[in-house]
Amino acid sequence: DVLLKYFPRSFVETLSKKLGINQLYPTQVEAIKSGVLDGRDIVLSAPTASGKTLVAELAMLKTLIAGGKALYMAPLRALASEKFEEFSSFFGVFGYRTAISTGDFDSDDPWLEKYDVIVTTNEKADSLLRHKARWFDKITLLVVDEIHLIGSDKRGATLEVFLTRTKLMPRRPQLLGLSATIGNLEELAEWLQAKPVRVDWRPVPLKEGVYYNGEIFYSDGSSTTLDDHGTPLYDLAYDTLENEGQILVFSPTRRSAVSDAKKLSAITVKFLKPQEFRVIREHVSRLKSVYTDKVTLELLELLSKGVAFHHAGLGLEARSAVEKLFREHLIKAVIATPTLAAGVNLPARRVVITDYRRFNVELGYYEKIPVMEYKQMAGRAGRPRYDKEGEAVLIARSLQELEFLLNEYINARPEKLQSQLASEPVLRSHILSIIATSENVRSYSTLGRFLTSTFYLHQNKDYFFVIERARSILEKLVSSGFLEVEGEKLLPTQLGVRVAELYIDPETATQGLNFFKSREKASTLAYLYMISATPDAQTVHVRRGDEEWLEEKLKVMKEELGFEPPEDDIEYEFFLQVFKTALLLEDWINEVPEDVIVERYDVGPGDIYSLTLTAQWIAFALSEIAKLSGYDVHAVNLGVLSKRIEHGVKEELLELVSLKGIGRVRARNLFNFGYKSLIDLAVAKEEELSRVPGIGKMLAKSIKKQLSSREEGEVDEEQPELGEPGPL
Ligand code: ADP
Repeated sequence: DVLLKYFPRSFVETLSKKLGINQLYPTQVEAIKSGVLDGRDIVLSAPTASGKTLVAELAMLKTLIAGGKALYMAPLRALASEKFEEFSSFFGVFGYRTAISTGDFDSDDPWLEKYDVIVTTNEKADSLLRHKARWFDKITLLVVDEIHLIGSDKRGATLEVFLTRTKLMPRRPQLLGLSATIGNLEELAEWLQAKPVRVDWRPVPLKEGVYYNGEIFYSDGSSTTLDDHGTPLYDLAYDTLENEGQILVFSPTRRSAVSDAKKLSAITVKFLKPQEFRVIREHVSRLKSVYTDKVTLELLELLSKGVAFHHAGLGLEARSAVEKLFREHLIKAVIATPTLAAGVNLPARRVVITDYRRFNVELGYYEKIPVMEYKQMAGRAGRPRYDKEGEAVLIARSLQELEFLLNEYINARPEKLQSQLASEPVLRSHILSIIATSENVRSYSTLGRFLTSTFYLHQNKDYFFVIERARSILEKLVSSGFLEVEGEKLLPTQLGVRVAELYIDPETATQGLNFFKSREKASTLAYLYMISATPDAQTVHVRRGDEEWLEEKLKVMKEELGFEPPEDDIEYEFFLQVFKTALLLEDWINEVPEDVIVERYDVGPGDIYSLTLTAQWIAFALSEIAKLSGYDVHAVNLGVLSKRIEHGVKEELLELVSLKGIGRVRARNLFNFGYKSLIDLAVAKEEELSRVPGIGKMLAKSIKKQLSSREEGEVDEEQPELGEPGPL
C-alpha cells in the first residue's frame, strides 16, 4: 500500500506477481518512511540479507519513471556483475535497460548513454568522472553499495574523493548509501548531508557465541554442549550437518583454508546424497575441461566430497561454481579466507570463525581483525527460507580467550570509519586528478575549498596539516612536469591530464619517464621489471626456498635486466619480489601453460588473472605516456607488450586472439595448423577449421561470422564483454 503512493498500480502488481514481493521488509519500510522515494539523500545501515537491495531497486525505479538515470556503484568486480545480473532481470520486467562497465579506465564509454541503470565499480565511476563522460549529468540517483569501504586503507580514498566531487556538483544527484553496520553512521551521513537510517532487523535471527572445550557459550548467557568428535571444527561441523544445515568457515590463510577443507571432507562426504553427488560431478567434469592446475584440481577433488575452499587464488569460473553449489545446498561446507568476506553472498546456517587474527601478507604478520569485519562475517549466518535461526561461532583455545572474544568481538561495537585520504601516495594521485579533470579546481584557494569538503577534514578538522601536505605534493607534481603554477593558478600540463585520465599514480608515470630517458631500447624482461616495480603494480610473494632459484635465474639474466640488484637488504627483498613477478609475466607471454605457472610461482589462476590485468594496464598507460613524451620506440614496444600480457601470447598470435572465443591455447592450435592470420582464416573452409583441436563446429562458425562482419565494417555497439582491461 505504501508503494501505491509512489508507483502505478500495475507496477506494484508486477512486483508481487513476477518478483514475489508481497510485503515490504522493515528495512524497506524504514527507508521509505525516511524519504528515499521522495528524493531524499540517505545512508542506510542494516544487516546482511535485510533487503537493502530492494530499497535500491525501488529508488532506482522511481527515478527511472521520472525520466532519470541511475548509477549503482559496488566495490568489487565480482559484486558488480552479481548485481548486474540481478538488475537486468528486475528492471527488464519494467522495460528498462541495465548496463555494466567495470574495465577500461581510459574511456568515457559513450555507449552507456543509452542505458537506464549503469552498474560500475567505484574505481570505474571515478575514472568516468575523470573522463567527463557526458551522460554523467543525466544521473539523477547515485547508489553507493558498501559505502563503509570509505574507511578501507587501500581504496577508501577513491570513494571519498568521488563523493566529495559529486557533493560539489551544481546539480547533485540523489544519494543512497548502503552499508552493513558502522560505528559512526551519523558522522558519515552528516558529512554527506544525508539522513542516517539505522535498521537492526534481520530476516533470520542471529545468535552469536564462542566455542570452548566442547561447549558453545552464547552472548545471551545460555550455552550448549556438543558431541565430541575430536576437534572444535569437527564438533561444530557434525552438529550443523546432522541437522541438515550448512557451515561456512573462515580460516586465516589460504593454506589453512585448504587444510581445513581437507579435514572436513571426511565429514561432509558422509552427508552427501547420491543425487547431490551426481550434480556436483557434472560441474566437476565441466571445470576439468577449463582448469588443469593443481590448485583447482585439489578443489575439484574436495567438491566431489561435498566441501570446498574459497579464496582469491581461484579462477573466476571455479569460484562461481563453488558459490552456486553452496547456494543450491549441494555442498555442505565452504572454508573461505576473510579477504573475500565483504563481497560474496554465501549465507549458511552456521558461520565459524576459526581465528580472530588474520595474516597480513604485506606486513608479514598476524593482525587482529576489526570488529566490523567480524560482524560482517557473522552476519552471513542464517539463510532466509531455510533456517529458523543463524549462528556465528568463534573458537577459543583457553578460558582467557573465551572471555576476550566475548568482550572484544561479540559484545563490542564496530569501529568508527576513518578517512584514509591523508596518506601521501593516495593524496598525490587524487590532487592531480582533481586539478587535471575539473575546471573549477584550478587554484590554491579552490583546491583548499575542495579539501575542506572531504570526509577527512569533516572528521579531523586539522586543516593546516592537510594544506601543508598538499603544498609539498603540489611542489612534487610541478617538478615532475604534471602541473604548472601561474601566480595563484594551478594549471595541469598535457602530461598531467593524461596521467589522471589513465588512472595511474603520478609516481608510476615518473618512474616510466625515468626509464625511457635512461635508455633507447630495452629487453622484454627489463620492461616487465619496470612495470612490476611501479606503485600501481601487484607483485607475487617470495617464499622460503624461492630465493635460491631466483638467484640462479638472476645470474643468467642480469644482462637482460640491464642493471645490478641493490645491496641494501630491504631493497633487495623488494627487488626479488619484483623480479619474481617479472619472470611470471614473461612466462605468461611466452605461452607457458597456466598449470605450470601455478606450480612454479605458487599462485592460483585467480592471481594470474589479477596480476596480468594490472600489468597489462600499466603497460598500456606507460605506452601512452611514452607516446606523449616523444619516446616512440618505447611507446610501440609497450603497446605490443600490453596486448601480449592481456592475452598471454607471443606477438605472432596477436591477430588471432583478437577474435572472440579465441584465447591463448586455441590461437596456438590454429597457428600450428597453419592458420597464422585472419586472412588465412578467411580463406579456410569452415569444416577444416572445426577440426582444429579445441575449435569445433560452433566456434568455427562463429569465427567465420566474425570475419565476415568485420569485412562489412560493422561495429559492435553492444556491451563489451566482462573482464576488459583495467586494474583491480
Ligand atoms: P542485503 O542487500 O540487505 O544484503 P538482499 O536485498 O540481498 O539483502 O535481500 C536478501 C533476500 O531477501 C533476497 O533474496 C531478496 O530477494 C529477499 N527480499 C528482500 N526484500 C523482500 C521482500 N520485501 N519480500 C520478500 N523477499 C524479499
